[in-house]
Amino acid sequence: MATVLKSFLSGEWRAGSGKRAELVNPSTEEVLAEASTEGLDFRGALSFAREKGGRALRAMSFAQRGELLKKLAKVVADAREELIALGLANAGNTRSDAKFDIDGASATLMYYAELGSTLGEARFLADGEGIPIGRSARLFGQHLLVPREGVAVQINAFNFPAWGMGEKLAAALLAGMPVISKPATSTAMMAHRMAELWAQSGALPEGAFSFVCGSIGDLLSHLGPQDVVAFTGSGQTAAQLRRLDNLARQNIHLNVEADSLNSMVLGRDVELGTEAMNLFFSDVVKEMTQKAGQKCTAVRRIYVPRDRMDQVREELVQRLSEVRVGNPADERAQMGPVATAQQLRDVRAGIDQLARSSEVATGGSKPIDAAGVPPGKGYFVAPTMLLMSNPSIEADVNGLEVFGPVATLMPFAQTAALVNLIVAGGGGLVSSIYSDERRFIEEVVAGIAPHHGRLTIAGEKVAGQSVPPGTVLPQLLHGGPGRAGGGEELGGMRGLALYQQRVALQGHRPLVEHLAGTLKDSAHSSRA
Ligand code: NAP
Repeated sequence: MATVLKSFLSGEWRAGSGKRAELVNPSTEEVLAEASTEGLDFRGALSFAREKGGRALRAMSFAQRGELLKKLAKVVADAREELIALGLANAGNTRSDAKFDIDGASATLMYYAELGSTLGEARFLADGEGIPIGRSARLFGQHLLVPREGVAVQINAFNFPAWGMGEKLAAALLAGMPVISKPATSTAMMAHRMAELWAQSGALPEGAFSFVCGSIGDLLSHLGPQDVVAFTGSGQTAAQLRRLDNLARQNIHLNVEADSLNSMVLGRDVELGTEAMNLFFSDVVKEMTQKAGQKCTAVRRIYVPRDRMDQVREELVQRLSEVRVGNPADERAQMGPVATAQQLRDVRAGIDQLARSSEVATGGSKPIDAAGVPPGKGYFVAPTMLLMSNPSIEADVNGLEVFGPVATLMPFAQTAALVNLIVAGGGGLVSSIYSDERRFIEEVVAGIAPHHGRLTIAGEKVAGQSVPPGTVLPQLLHGGPGRAGGGEELGGMRGLALYQQRVALQGHRPLVEHLAGTLKDSAHSSRA
């Protein structure tokens, strides 16, 4: 019988009633676990988190919150093998995919733990320098960043059950806000185990962390103006959240990390056989096949100079057709299945839609024989590269995110036309440029920067140590404008912004400066 996964609310593990959602192994389609949240008391859980967790966290200094994050990171690192096994079974992850997710979670927690220790004994932050605002220096203003007094509801997508949860949690707890974390139900087993281990660890103050396993039910309808929502997932679900009456009426802060048609550009200066060229090829293959292309930062559109198309196509077709697709339980598999039956249907339909205006260079939407699975089982897709010889702004490739191992190779001639094509994607998380040609880079960066959250420039000079563009770093911003959701996460201290209220204090300078100091003390005495 399948395990029933519970939610951790008001300090207790509770199972929902009614019909349960099934969590399967996407390689074999075997049901592994079930979850429901029906009948659970979300209103009570929110009050518990606000009153107990919020109070406890605000009474702690940044250094103490950092210590807490360090303990959570250690719990994840210590359970690495167990969590990898869950990623293989429930998310279709290869061992390397699962490590990427789990190590991403512990590294981000550690990064914020260290930030906490740097911030020391403070409990809130001065935002910049104080500012004289009157005719003399006596009248003075100072911005402060104080933790919001609500709950951070953090909703994650199915593709990064560990990292998604870890990175959001790290920023909120460090800022001093309690968290209710909700993973996507289909791949929740890894996140559920992390939640169990965190709850058992004793590291967390009561109410600082809660976990919803299954549908979000009516939770969002009980939020108030001090609560925030951090959402990662599809643009469609994000649009539903934006329309929620309660969020709109109370102006509840909502951060959205949605989808993105990320691009990679090969410069005219990069020659075959150079380190930069090899990096470009290996990054394309990694970004297309890691997590079976189910990464918000995976590449969807690849632009190369027109006279290099044949060369690049040949090499990429060769490399992609060599990728061994199969059940990650067999360690020879280099790419696993997509995560759910719905994902498989969507990816196949998406490839067919793109193929109406492109040629399939390798792969395609047809069922494939994957290694290590019963015949006909599993949600497998071949790494698929399409080719569009005459890209146009209106083409589906600039509007449709096919969330699988799928990208389209396209030529460019003029830099201005290239910029127009890239920005036709409607706002992106990341774009990468493989070149050392300064004028070309300047023109592309100037043209596409307002449309992106992050740009990676990877030429010969940094090829040896470049980080693949799909890897999200805690030091740098994650998020993007337009279709990418308009949200901002990570980016060091910037990641705390959602969880803090910026307040401007103005008055007599000594008093303002004194209040900034005494506020810390009174926060301690009244809220401890
Ligand atoms: P999804 O279907 O939108 O689900 C995302 C999360 O929202 C899940 O936890 C889901 O829970 C929850 N959810 C569904 N309906 C909801 C509602 N009405 N109210 C509140 N929560 C609701 O997206 P997905 O299929 O998991 O993820 C794939 C998409 O996420 C892709 O488009 C990808 O580009 C995007 N993504 C973006 C980022 C980024 O950082 N920008 C990162 C990863 C993925 P249930 O599972 O219980 O339905």
